[in-house]
Amino acid sequence: MDLYEYQAKEIFASHGIPTLPGSVATDPNGAQAVAEEIGGPVVVKAQVKAGGRGKAGGVKLAETPDEARSKAEAILGLDIKGHTTRQVLVTEASDIADEYYLSFLLDRANRSFLAMASVEGGMEIEEVAATKPEALARIPIDPIRGVDEAKAREIVEAAKFPAEITDQVTEIVARLWEAFVAEDATLFEINPLVKDPQGKVIALDGKVTLDDNAAFRQSKQSEYVDEGAEDPLEAKAKAKDLNYVKLDGEVGIIGNGAGLVMSTLDVVAYAGADHGNVKPANFLDIGGGASAEVMAAGLDVILGDPDVKSVFVNVFGGITACDAVANGIVQALKMLGDEAAKPLVVRLDGNNVEEGRRILAEADHPLVTLVDTMDGAADKAAELAAGK
Ligand code: GDP
Ligand code: MN
Repeated sequence: MDLYEYQAKEIFASHGIPTLPGSVATDPNGAQAVAEEIGGPVVVKAQVKAGGRGKAGGVKLAETPDEARSKAEAILGLDIKGHTTRQVLVTEASDIADEYYLSFLLDRANRSFLAMASVEGGMEIEEVAATKPEALARIPIDPIRGVDEAKAREIVEAAKFPAEITDQVTEIVARLWEAFVAEDATLFEINPLVKDPQGKVIALDGKVTLDDNAAFRQSKQSEYVDEGAEDPLEAKAKAKDLNYVKLDGEVGIIGNGAGLVMSTLDVVAYAGADHGNVKPANFLDIGGGASAEVMAAGLDVILGDPDVKSVFVNVFGGITACDAVANGIVQALKMLGDEAAKPLVVRLDGNNVEEGRRILAEADHPLVTLVDTMDGAADKAAELAAGK
């Protein structure tokens, strides 16, 4: 789960990383009130879970509370990379002498963690990595040993932070790691970390991604969930414990096992090229034990998507055999009744496939087409999606 900047900075502050005071507001009056409380110049910042807000006009300086009000008015409602701005952070403005970059992240490829630091802050770090890779220090972190003071110094030295701030930055590096571990995060990023004209180092922007797999031991994580910003179908799927991701095509996809569903997406996209370029409408993995309830829950989510024109159910019988899955599909269609109103293409293979196919053939549901091969089924589903 990604956090908003203001939430990230609250976490930073609670771990002793210097930030500037501020509060969020959802309307211009609220922004003015926060600015009055801060007293002095403020920065009004769009709170959206996307980067590059500065360039998109989502970060504006305001000298007076009145100006904070009009800046908030301009920023609220702004669309930044497809995210509508519903709240702004109004925070004390800082004069900036220099901008830096600092982050910890999960390095999946190397099965460890990685620290990245650069004195080329402010611009997007991808740009630094592409145009000036030597300016971005990358230091692997041993997950068991973590970051002690010596490691923090190594990071600061590798990035060549100026001598007069190395002690401050070393302290921030150590605390950022402490926070990263304590919160079970996969990313903690400060960009920019700034030096103000007095030489004090402050985190001016924060990006945090928490590891959803740790939610069970991070009771605070549920406070960060904001349903308003969530896709309603994804929220519904999450409530039913389904692994669902909404995509922008027309062919609904249900499969068992992430690998099978991924290849189903590819096959449907390929077949769709011959049928008006229809594409997969979602990723949905119903996992190993595809009971009737899980199948019904999955179909319910997918059929509720107005973009879906046809559904491809692609199941490989393993521990849960094809006959159980076939019974699940038949019962799911009964449970959904009239709500199931879109054509379903079902491909079954694997354990007990003959019995599975027999059950579906016998049920003879008017919406269901049985196709034996994955390619054939993908083609049929794409054709049905294009025909509607
Ligand atoms: P992002 O564009 O979404 O990464 O948003 P940031 O919070 O990083 O802000 C973008 C840029 O705005 C920063 O790199 C700074 O140059 C500038 N900025 C943000 N806050 C302040 C501030 O308090 N004072 C000044 N002078 N500039 C700021
Ligand atoms: Mn930034």
